[in-house]
Amino acid sequence: MGATGTGKSRLSIDLATRFFSSEIINSDKIQLYRGLDITTNKIPLQDRLGVPHHLLGVFDSDLIEELTPSQYRLHASSIIEDILGRNKLPLIVGGSNSLIHALVSDRFDPNSDVFNDVDSILSSELRYDCCFLWVDVGIEVLYEYLLRRVDDMFDSGMFEELVEFFESEAESGPIQQFGIKKAIGIPEFEDFFRSGGGGDDTVDTQLKERAIQAIKYNTCELAKRQIEKIQRLRSAGWDLRRLIATEAFRAVLLSDSDMSSEIWEKNVVEPSVKIVKTFLEE
Ligand code: ATP
Repeated sequence: MGATGTGKSRLSIDLATRFFSSEIINSDKIQLYRGLDITTNKIPLQDRLGVPHHLLGVFDSDLIEELTPSQYRLHASSIIEDILGRNKLPLIVGGSNSLIHALVSDRFDPNSDVFNDVDSILSSELRYDCCFLWVDVGIEVLYEYLLRRVDDMFDSGMFEELVEFFESEAESGPIQQFGIKKAIGIPEFEDFFRSGGGGDDTVDTQLKERAIQAIKYNTCELAKRQIEKIQRLRSAGWDLRRLIATEAFRAVLLSDSDMSSEIWEKNVVEPSVKIVKTFLEE
């Protein structure tokens, strides 16, 4: 668990390569859908190091619109059964706390949105024996990192990916806000592409810059909301083990990747391995 950008995917591979029989199940609600791999930050194939991933980029949001938390609960639990049936270890990885809550809660009520309904109560009764790892990065450092990550995503081809996406949507009128179309990047770029964007005049440049600023702002807001939800789960009694990755991210911001990897290993991977080992031995 953890906010966007905190290194959950990296940690999941670090763990899966140490606990050899692991398989990963995605719990990011936007990464469930096919497409927009850069925009939605799906872990690239070469970084998965052969570890099997489930529910990552498998649904077509034009066909199913949006997978509900209860549908996620059904899909993910049947994959968990299958993984356990093969004597392997399922790792659930992703930032959508509503999906994690739906999956592991003992009594899940599909009609209540536990994080947004004021009256609903978060229960700590779970239907699985869970070991929760929460990767946390101090908010100021995380914000700075996320701003930089958005620039890096554009350097890696996010704009070209969005051009292709909006071209394929061109005939279908205004973008409906469901499924993958809720991905940060799509609503923010709608004005730019709908105004015939893609040229290089001043209006285009301004709209593009405005869209990038909105993406940065909305990504930071998402991170803040995700951390609030994690803290609510903790207050409700979920035994979340917190790994503090702030120093590793500080080193990233100083462009010291060797130092960052060393600190990541010491502050995040080693304690996580210990926690998981103890959990498996209990
Ligand atoms: P909520 O109830 O607010 O939807 P949640 O816990 O169900 O919260 P989050 O993972 O916090 O789900 O996602 C909330 C929103 O953040 C998504 O609807 C989407 O706009 C954006 N978002 C989440 N993950 C991604 C992603 N991988 N890429 C782009 N945008 C994302």
